[in-house]
Amino acid sequence: MTQLERQQWDVVVVGAGGAGLRAAIEARERGARTAVICKSLFGKAHTVMAEGGIAASMGNVNSGDNWQVHFRDTMRGGKFLNQWRMAELHAREAPERVWELETWGALFDRTPDGRISQRNFGGHEYPRLAHVGDRTGLELIRTLQQKIVSLQQEDKKEFGDYEARLKVFQECTVTRVLKAGSTDGPAARDRVSGAFCYERESGRFFVLETPAVVLATGGIGKSFKVTSNSWEYTGDGHALALLAGAPLLNMEFVQFHPTGMVWPPSVKGILVTESVRGDGGVLRNSEGKRFMFDYVPDVFKEKYAESEEEGDRWYEDPDHNRRPPELLPRDEVARAINAEVKAGRGTPHGGVFLDVSTRMPAEVIRRRLPSMYHQFKELADVDITAEAMEVGPTCHYVMGGIAVDSDTAAARGVPGLFAAGEVAGGMHGSNRLGGNSLSDLLVFGRRAGLHAAEYTASLAVRPAVDEAQIDTAAAEALRPFSAEAPADGSPVENPYTLHQELQQAMNDLVGIIRREGEMHQALRKLAELRARARRAGVEGHRQFNPGWHLALDLRNMLLVSECVARAALERTESRGGHTREDWPGMDRSWRRVNLLCHLADPTEGLAPPDSEGGQIRLVREETDPVRADLLSLFEKEELVKYLAEEELKS
Ligand code: FAD
Repeated sequence: MTQLERQQWDVVVVGAGGAGLRAAIEARERGARTAVICKSLFGKAHTVMAEGGIAASMGNVNSGDNWQVHFRDTMRGGKFLNQWRMAELHAREAPERVWELETWGALFDRTPDGRISQRNFGGHEYPRLAHVGDRTGLELIRTLQQKIVSLQQEDKKEFGDYEARLKVFQECTVTRVLKAGSTDGPAARDRVSGAFCYERESGRFFVLETPAVVLATGGIGKSFKVTSNSWEYTGDGHALALLAGAPLLNMEFVQFHPTGMVWPPSVKGILVTESVRGDGGVLRNSEGKRFMFDYVPDVFKEKYAESEEEGDRWYEDPDHNRRPPELLPRDEVARAINAEVKAGRGTPHGGVFLDVSTRMPAEVIRRRLPSMYHQFKELADVDITAEAMEVGPTCHYVMGGIAVDSDTAAARGVPGLFAAGEVAGGMHGSNRLGGNSLSDLLVFGRRAGLHAAEYTASLAVRPAVDEAQIDTAAAEALRPFSAEAPADGSPVENPYTLHQELQQAMNDLVGIIRREGEMHQALRKLAELRARARRAGVEGHRQFNPGWHLALDLRNMLLVSECVARAALERTESRGGHTREDWPGMDRSWRRVNLLCHLADPTEGLAPPDSEGGQIRLVREETDPVRADLLSLFEKEELVKYLAEEELKS
């Protein structure tokens, strides 16, 4: 039996971004003793990097906005593959969550008459993003942290201990969700019983015993070479759920944000916020042409301007003009940029030009886009008030994720497991609209915290932690220290080399444009990397050892990458964040299909079906029919573009 520290909590939240913090606040306010654990420093999460804003139909800038319009935009953006109940809850509850943030101390930019200001963003019919310059995520996280501190101060008063009911474990990583042991009986065996963790600084292992785990670990971008994501985003929560027995939904949908930096190489992929286009920035190719007018797909033709003049007039008079095509959903803009570069009309460093310098006075640019101004000045020596930026697509966000119940955020098949934020699937369908993530975090973070607390409170007996699972988790985590070269002469592998090869393969073979042959190649490469990863070895000690941490993260990246490649190969159509060169059109019959990734279990005959081996088994599942009152929010002519014949008849 492994000797380690154990603590007991009612709810454990893995991740301290917007979803995790909102979940923790809710669970604690519902009376649950709640622990939050995060891989990096408290406050350092993708949420803090969010720039553009939070989408919520408050109607402050255009009173035509309401939850129904927001719901419609979200469904259109996701090409109708969204888990519609999530999209409904999100659109209905987002304004309340933003107002709640204000009551907790957030200070958003204001309209001239003092209301929360809202800005335009791609795919949103009205100005909808509440923002704080281009540093909205910072304000969101600051406010949630402040709320946590105030709850801890309450506990100090009541119990003499700040951490009596809400504790943060920072720079600690969860490597396994633990389940109940077989002695608890078959009914309890699937239940969550805790989390196995290590402290990054000391390498010390510990276990948080709990009946309810909320996964809020964010994205998977670090499996791709060019990405806006930072080092933590190795798909941990996705992999933890799979390993615990919960399926992942529609993992083929990965968002390539159209505008990442392309130069210099050291900063390639860093995000250039969509607010640049929302505030008037235009995209041009090397011939100076505003090319987006050539890329408006049929489904969006009626909603977008046909000429530059109309597009420009829209910024001043949106009620009588249509929006410029630079504000199409991200998948459309990313594909258009990709096509321009491929056609030889790219910039010297393989991107296109994004220009605000000719659209706004310098002081307005510096005021509205302060982070972008500094980012380009300091990292690329480009003054965006005087010259155009060079930009190109970058892997940014994953729409696919843990399959959850729309109302309760409960993960499918594993009682006690919940998921919220980017790690959860379904909400955004095949493509997320900008600004809809921050609102998603608040809406579903709250719901996850609420239902996790209720779940724990409902249990008569708490599931006991299975000692054998702790031993296995400890042995798994220590394996890289004892990796030996096998007798056949193969070397001990370097985790950094494996990571680089993985990123290159995913970028080149399962990237923005996908082809059948290349995805088979990717699956073969992943199988090879998986075999080599078993021999990944590290030197030194358990005290802060980044090579060891990466060796552990590789398991997660390989699992998640296989899900993406396998699902992308299966879906023979192009939709949202999944573009097949060999299947270029959107196929209405695929709208009814969700692809679920399960961990393959050869002992149960659930091995993957092909010769490429692997760990993932795909299951097709029919999507729920959209509720009639929600469908009635759309014109019939529009529905015909998305829904299958039989759905239109019913
Ligand atoms: P995150 O904020 O990503 O937090 C994840 C947490 O999980 C972190 O605390 C991390 O340390 C922890 N974690 C991960 N693995 C483990 C593990 N194994 N053990 C313990 N802890 C773990 N969206 C918008 O809506 N509007 C925007 O303007 C916007 N701008 C963006 C700009 C950038 C540069 C980026 C990268 C994203 C942007 N997004 C935006 C997307 C949005 O920020 C993210 O989707 C969102 O913040 C994800 O929030 P989250 O709470 O799900 O996870």
